[in-house]
Amino acid sequence: KMPRKFIVGGNWKCNGDRPSINALVQALNTGESAIGSGVEVVVAPPMLYGDYARGLLRPDFGVAFQNCWTGGNGAFTGEVSANMIKDAGFDWVILGHSERRSLPEIMETDATVATKTAYALKAGLKVILCIGETLDARQSGKTDEVNARQLAAVAEKVSDWSNIVIAYEPVWAIGTGVVATPEQAQETHAQIRKWLAENLSPQVAQQMRIMYGGSANAANADSLAKQPDVDGFLVGGASLKPEFLKIAESWK
Ligand code: PEP
Repeated sequence: KMPRKFIVGGNWKCNGDRPSINALVQALNTGESAIGSGVEVVVAPPMLYGDYARGLLRPDFGVAFQNCWTGGNGAFTGEVSANMIKDAGFDWVILGHSERRSLPEIMETDATVATKTAYALKAGLKVILCIGETLDARQSGKTDEVNARQLAAVAEKVSDWSNIVIAYEPVWAIGTGVVATPEQAQETHAQIRKWLAENLSPQVAQQMRIMYGGSANAANADSLAKQPDVDGFLVGGASLKPEFLKIAESWK
């Protein structure tokens, strides 16, 4: 893993209010947690609270947004552009989360995720690009095919991958309490890296950080973090608890 700095993201999803964010940030800011300098930590508050959380949060933690519009400013009621996120002082956006891909009210396509990724990079943001297969796809042996399809859509629109971090999040593991085994995570991460080597370049593959997401918690993080191709975590449920700091320490 040598050239790749461990990265842990906390996806707060559509949760929280000012009092709960105050309490969570206070816990994350605690001086007692020796997460150390070997990890980059990024938290993703709900859009409306991004600025609020940034103002309270320890400066060594980055802040990400959970989505953005496909392009720049304009007549797109209800949307937030990558340019605005950048202008407001934020560096990261999460794109392609499986909830945004699969909830019937949203249904983002591979092509939409790719367009957003290309535009966000152009606007100067770094992107946590989420990919992953459903339970059906895994059970029918299509895991690598699904990941390849989601990555290929992005490769059609993006040539410089240096500001992308991939989050491999098997849909069957998200919010279910069913975590991928270290072997499953390692095998799939290695396949993703192989795809990058064959379709982009060996250098992109070598440098790409691939986070694991899906029911990661303080109890299972260490054994996953030991896998050679697991370069961090994207954490949902457990990122709303002080336990998140333990996951951030799992690089050690
Ligand atoms: C996520 O939604 O990115 C996620 C990994 O959720 P959880 O940790 O709750 O499974």
